[in-house]
Amino acid sequence: MHQSLRTAFPDIPWQEHFPLGALSTIRLGGHVALYAPIDDEDVLCRVVQFCFSHNLPYRVVGGLSNLIVPDKTYSGVVLHNKTARHQLINAQKGLISFSSGYSLAALVNRCFRYHLGEGLESFMSLPGTLGGAIFNNAHFGSSLIGDFIHSVRVYQPADSQTVDLTPSSLNFAYEHSIFQEHPDWVILGATFQLSPVDPALAKKKAQEVLAWRQEKQPLNFPSAGSFFQNVPNNDILRARFPQFADQKYVSTAFLIDQAGLRGHRLGNIQISPQHAGFIVNLGSGTYADLMSLVHLVKNTLTREFSVSPPEEVFYLI
Ligand SMILES: Cc1cc2nc3c(=O)[nH]c(=O)nc-3n(C[C@H](O)[C@H](O)[C@H](O)COP(=O)(O)OP(=O)(O)OC[C@H]3O[C@@H](n4cnc5c(N)ncnc54)[C@H](O)[C@@H]3O)c2cc1C
Repeated sequence: MHQSLRTAFPDIPWQEHFPLGALSTIRLGGHVALYAPIDDEDVLCRVVQFCFSHNLPYRVVGGLSNLIVPDKTYSGVVLHNKTARHQLINAQKGLISFSSGYSLAALVNRCFRYHLGEGLESFMSLPGTLGGAIFNNAHFGSSLIGDFIHSVRVYQPADSQTVDLTPSSLNFAYEHSIFQEHPDWVILGATFQLSPVDPALAKKKAQEVLAWRQEKQPLNFPSAGSFFQNVPNNDILRARFPQFADQKYVSTAFLIDQAGLRGHRLGNIQISPQHAGFIVNLGSGTYADLMSLVHLVKNTLTREFSVSPPEEVFYLI
C-alpha cells in the first residue's frame, strides 16, 4: 500500500524507514515506515484522504516537541507538517489566521509586528507548531492557547470535507481538545481573535518569561517539556499538603520531588534535578529506560499519594 501512495503522489519527497526519533526534541526512539515533509495544505489533505480511504495508518506531526517515538518501527505514514502561511484578516477586529505548521514562536512574533496579541507573550518561548499547540491546548501558567482562538480549520477525511470549528465545539480544557478524540482529523490552521498590544512591551514580557524558563527548566538537555499532567486534588493530598487545599490541581513535579525522585536516573534518562516535571535525555538515552522511569514515577505516586498522573506527551503508536 505504501507503494501505491508513492505512485499516487510521485512529487512528494518520500523517505522509507525514516529515523523520526532523532528529530524529536527528546532525541530518542526509532523509525517510521514512510515519512514526508509536506508544505502544501491541499496536498496534505489529499494524502490524508488517500491514507484514510485505504486504511493506511497516518499521523500528522509538527515540531515533535510533545511526541515520543517508540523503538518499534511505526508501520504507517508520518506527514511532517511544514505549512507556514498567515493572513491578517481584520486588524481592527484583531483577526489573524495561520496555517497549522507555523512555528508558535514565529506566530507570536508576527502578531506583535501587527501590534496584536496581548497575553500571547508566554507562548513565544514554547517549541513546536500551531497544530501541536491546538492538539493539546498548550498552556503556560493559567493561560491556554485555546483562549485566543476564534476558529480552527479542520480536514475531516471521513466526509472529505474542510470545516471551521469555533471554540464552543472544540472541547478545549486543560491538556485537551476535541482533536484527541478524532485522531483521523487534521488541524489545517486557525484564526486568532487578539487584543492590541504594544510590541516593545510585549517582547519585554516574552523575554522575562524566557528568562524564567531558562532559570527553572532544563532547556540545555533534550526533553519533551513537562512529561506528566498535573493531578486533580484529593483528600489524601489535602491532608498531606494543606498549603494546596484550595487548589483544583496539584503539581505533579512537586509530588515527584516529595516522593524523592528528583534527579533519579536510569541509564542516560533522568528526572531533571532542576525541574522534577521534566524527564531529560543526558545523551543516547533509550526509549526502554524512559518507559521504565515513567512506570517508576507512576507506581511511586500511586503508592505515596493515590494518584496516577497521565502523560502530557503523546506516543507515536
Ligand atoms: C523545552 C520544552 C518546553 C515546553 N513547554 C511547554 C509549555 O510551557 N506548555 C505546553 O503546553 N507545552 C510545552 N511543551 C510541549 C510542546 O512544546 C507543546 O505541547 C507544543 O505545542 C507541541 O507542538 P508540536 O508541533 O511540537 O507537536 P508534536 O509534538 O509534533 O505533536 C503533538 C501531537 O499533536 C498532533 N498534531 C500535531 N500537529 C497536528 C495537526 N496539524 N493536526 C492534527 N494533529 C496534530 C501529533 O500527531 C501529536 O499527537 C514544551 C516542550 C519542550 C520541549
